[in-house]
Amino acid sequence: MSDTIKGDPSVVPTGVGRAGWVDQLARRRQPGPSRIGHVNDAPLRALHEATRAVHSGSFDDPSTGAVGTPIYQTSTFILGEEQYRAVEEGYARDRFIYTRYGNPSQWAVQEKLAALEGAESALVFASGMAAISASVLAMLDKGAHIVASDELYGGTYNLFHHDLPSLGFTVSYVSPRDIAAVQAAVRPNTMLLYFEAMTNPLLKVVDVAALAEVARGSGARLMIDATFVTPLGCRPLELGADMVVHSCTKYLNGHSDLVAGVALGSRKLMDMVWPRLLAFGGCLDPHACFLLERGLKTLAVRMRAHQEGALKVAEFLSGHPRVRKTLYPGLASHPDHQLARRTLRNTGGMVSFNVASDAQALALLQRLHLMREATSLGGVETLISLPFNTSHAAFTAAQRARLGIEPGCVRLSVGIEHPDDLIADLDAALTAMPEA
Ligand SMILES: *Cc1c(COP(=O)(O)O)cnc(C)c1O
Repeated sequence: MSDTIKGDPSVVPTGVGRAGWVDQLARRRQPGPSRIGHVNDAPLRALHEATRAVHSGSFDDPSTGAVGTPIYQTSTFILGEEQYRAVEEGYARDRFIYTRYGNPSQWAVQEKLAALEGAESALVFASGMAAISASVLAMLDKGAHIVASDELYGGTYNLFHHDLPSLGFTVSYVSPRDIAAVQAAVRPNTMLLYFEAMTNPLLKVVDVAALAEVARGSGARLMIDATFVTPLGCRPLELGADMVVHSCTKYLNGHSDLVAGVALGSRKLMDMVWPRLLAFGGCLDPHACFLLERGLKTLAVRMRAHQEGALKVAEFLSGHPRVRKTLYPGLASHPDHQLARRTLRNTGGMVSFNVASDAQALALLQRLHLMREATSLGGVETLISLPFNTSHAAFTAAQRARLGIEPGCVRLSVGIEHPDDLIADLDAALTAMPEA
């Protein structure tokens, strides 16, 4: 062991268990740390996503033979010549030095996420917002202009409406359904197009390929927040996007027990984001990496169950006399159903519906027994919330109406419970609800 420490502390003895992981880094300098894997990752990437979800990135501990990535609960790493050289020569991202810079627990889950998204490289963050703020700022030069969706997650809305202008950036907002308007909003100094693959709460589906074409023609980069669709719904990088961000808090972890984020793209772009991760400090704790990696292993089965349950619940709701409107991209009645069929392999677990009024929606929530009244989404348990007093509470009723959020709007994140139990819970509460 002392020999190892004198040489390169990143070099793990390979006598036990599978060879190759940390010790192969030097040879894998191109394209860098995202490419590590417990076996050569390239053949794994040719396998089905359910298989990648289980195996990619996971690291069987060579010193004990333990199956699965150990939790590297450390803030720092022993410095050797190689580490000093890495700092000096500018490849510190490829060596373990300090956990804000990189940690084996982060690298393992980054590799799994990159394999699922079909990305060259990934960086995990302490939250979705940490990933979004670091990634967006990494893509902008002084005085840059951004074209963004007029329907953004609340945290992103605040970043774009308050923080970016105060830093001298300008933002134009356009409907994600209007590609001509996106094109028209582009200026000579436009550096970034920013959209969400599926919007909240109306579940509008965005045509990523069409946006990528606008980006290509204008020399701007396209960043997609794919939280609502997951890599099992669509992989925006394959459709021409330059970068993808996710709140891993939602489907990717899937158990409502941690907050995390990820940014994915080429090694070159992630090398631009990494200094912002260091500067803004939103690094993901090793224990949270372990939980996220564990959650990801079941992503494929969970997403299948979310989609199945959501479709059944949406079909039930759309036939219920007390429900005025139901929105689910997997339903033929959804305005983007054809686009969803063309571009999404999984339409996810989010369903929105309208009862007669916000007051009636509040009465509905009080009569549910199984569904939890909570914000957030993508967990194994069904969550229900009302946009008017949660995600869109800062908007006036008129602003909500302009976005298409009508009174009585209810948002469901359908979990993986048996859909019949969810339907029974909803049916009883809808029937017991007072008149509007
Ligand atoms: C939740 C969410 C975020 C923010 O993620 P955090 O992990 O809460 O920081 C960003 N975008 C979308 C679409 C989200 O749903």
